[in-house]
Amino acid sequence: MALMRSMLLAASQNVWLREHAVKYPFVRRSVSRFMPGETLDAALGAAQNLLQKKIGSVFTHLGENVTDRNEARKVAAHYFEVLDRVHQLNLPTEISVKLTQLGLDLSPDFCFENLEQIIQRENGKATVWVDMEASNYVDVTLELYRRALNKYPNVGLCLQSYLYRTKKDLADLLPLRPSIRLVKGAYKEPASIAYPKKADVDENYFMLAQEMLRAKSVGQCVRAAFGTHDVALIRRLAGYIAQQNLPKSDLEVQMLFGIQRAEQERLAREGYRSVVLVAYGTYWYPWFVRRLAERPANLWFMLRNVFAP
Ligand SMILES: Cc1cc2nc3c(=O)[nH]c(=O)nc-3n(C[C@H](O)[C@H](O)[C@H](O)COP(=O)(O)OP(=O)(O)OC[C@H]3O[C@@H](n4cnc5c(N)ncnc54)[C@H](O)[C@@H]3O)c2cc1C
Repeated sequence: MALMRSMLLAASQNVWLREHAVKYPFVRRSVSRFMPGETLDAALGAAQNLLQKKIGSVFTHLGENVTDRNEARKVAAHYFEVLDRVHQLNLPTEISVKLTQLGLDLSPDFCFENLEQIIQRENGKATVWVDMEASNYVDVTLELYRRALNKYPNVGLCLQSYLYRTKKDLADLLPLRPSIRLVKGAYKEPASIAYPKKADVDENYFMLAQEMLRAKSVGQCVRAAFGTHDVALIRRLAGYIAQQNLPKSDLEVQMLFGIQRAEQERLAREGYRSVVLVAYGTYWYPWFVRRLAERPANLWFMLRNVFAP
């Protein structure tokens, strides 16, 4: 399983595969399980359907490692349009951005300008989430997040429980009253910086999650969101909430579109905060292959699509 994960994560970076695999109809059919479509309209339609089930949404326009200033500005402009449409439709939809898509590789200051303009367009109404990417970006992402949080309270950051450093990163952020989305981590990282065993990643997740919920209960963590599909872990967190007499709405679980739909609906029905991250756009190859790496059984699902009509 670990070997399969490593191979898939390597494939997610492969330029030849990125250019060729996306053309095969069976690959396109498979990706549609995780994406409502490539367009903003498709994402907005999905958000409206989710809202009927009391499920919130976060949009992410797929793309990463932009190396051209105009391209990065276009990404920012796309998010302006997203926010305008979301406000017009009065949807509770938030957005989540990747800093490398906003020009981080070109210059952190240039990337910050783009991020800042997006936050300003959000106008304090909802949280603008910042994804966490591979480990070489963690320091600069934290630095830009701190800069943003200093000026705008409605900005949130993703932290990854597979990294040893995250416990300290979280502790250092809490005095700034951050919003945090905790995930396990989706990239290929060496054992020198990340827990190699899944059981340790899960246990660290539970420890960090309890710390976030404690901080939230005393107003130190503005939003404590848990980006996971791990039902056993979600039940443990629900147990912790109940034991601490915290309201069910304090448990905010964010999942990806199309994964664990029944659990997304159950959480919303039972009074927890259930949110779905809706990814869309044409640059879906690396993102999709990371989804395969998370659950190699998805490969069988993709192979079944080879023979689908
Ligand atoms: C809202 C959200 C935002 C995220 N943002 C980031 C980010 O900014 N940076 C980052 O590094 N990672 C991010 N991730 C990905 C995350 O790091 C994990 O790789 C991913 O969530 C899988 O881990 P898990 O917590 O679901 O638990 P796992 O233990 O991997 O999975 C638990 C169970 O969930 C189901 N499951 C998990 N993944 C899949 C899948 N792909 N397909 C089908 N079933 C699946 C399976 O039933 C599995 O047994 C995000 C995830 C979510 C949900």
